[in-house]
Amino acid sequence: AAKRAGRNRVRLFTADLRTAAQRRVTLATELREAILDDQLVLHYQPIMYLPSRRCTGVEALVRWQHPERGLLPPAEFLPTAAQHGLLTPLARWVLRTASRQAAEWARGGLHLVTGVNISAGHLSTGTLVRDVLDALTEAQLPPEQLVIELTETSVAEDVERAAAQLAELRRSGVEVCIDDFGSGFSSLGQLVSLPTGILKIDRSLVAFPAGRRSQAAAAIAAVVALGRACGVRSLAEGVETAEQLELAAELGCVLAQGFHIARPMPADELVGWFAAQPRPAPVAG
Ligand code: C2E
Ligand code: MG
Ligand code: MG
Ligand code: MG
Repeated sequence: AAKRAGRNRVRLFTADLRTAAQRRVTLATELREAILDDQLVLHYQPIMYLPSRRCTGVEALVRWQHPERGLLPPAEFLPTAAQHGLLTPLARWVLRTASRQAAEWARGGLHLVTGVNISAGHLSTGTLVRDVLDALTEAQLPPEQLVIELTETSVAEDVERAAAQLAELRRSGVEVCIDDFGSGFSSLGQLVSLPTGILKIDRSLVAFPAGRRSQAAAAIAAVVALGRACGVRSLAEGVETAEQLELAAELGCVLAQGFHIARPMPADELVGWFAAQPRPAPVAG
């Protein structure tokens, strides 16, 4: 009886695996259509320039408006996209959509620097630079208004290949930023040699729990100092409280982003959000 129970358990387990695998294939098929069918949407999270406390940029974050499952966060479909070779088509859609949106806002007088996330796989296709420049040309967006975000772990996969492409992007005027800095275990020596303009200090360092302020401060200060020595600005990610914002500013972060400033929002809410921000004080004299 025990043996039979064991066999049943094995059979149940394989059945579960099969449905999970089938589900992934279905999701991949749906995702392929979603990219063509405009079911993807970008939400935009404001980025604050700390010296003036004004928001001067946004990060574009992809979501999938799934017909049955509702609005899906990237964690629910990026792994499937990666497994099925869909990250590059997805990235092209994101680059084009974000560039067009930024150009449209600029025509309306709202000049924002827009960050776009790029995956490690895109670096290995060798088409990243062309895809970025194509999107800019099509949208007629100046390169200075685009920032390409690559995670610490994705550039660490092949530092030399990453460096060559990042350098080319920067030469063309597009800023490059290392995302989630401090979350991996990449070689600092390699990272500091990368052609980059911004280090995004990972949320795990910025959003300190109560009682860990001094440790967080030491970690942030270390990254800021490293960045300064390399001529790179620091951005504090995942700022959730006023205290974290003040700490980041005090320690020399130039930029900050997080729920305390604003949550990611759909494009049509963003113009209203910016309009509701306090105006800069008129310059005396
Ligand atoms: P990321 O690039 O580090 O983006 C920041 C993530 O942190 C976003 O999650 C954002 O909503 C979240 N966040 C921002 N402020 C706070 C905060 O104060 N507290 C907390 N707890 N979270 C905060 P989201 O949109 O779910 O994106 C997750 C990740 O998915 C991104 O991390 C990025 O790695 C990836 N991703 C998003 N959009 C794209 C895309 O278009 N292409 C690619 N390849 N990856 C993307
Ligand atoms: Mg990012
Ligand atoms: Mg990040
Ligand atoms: Mg992150």
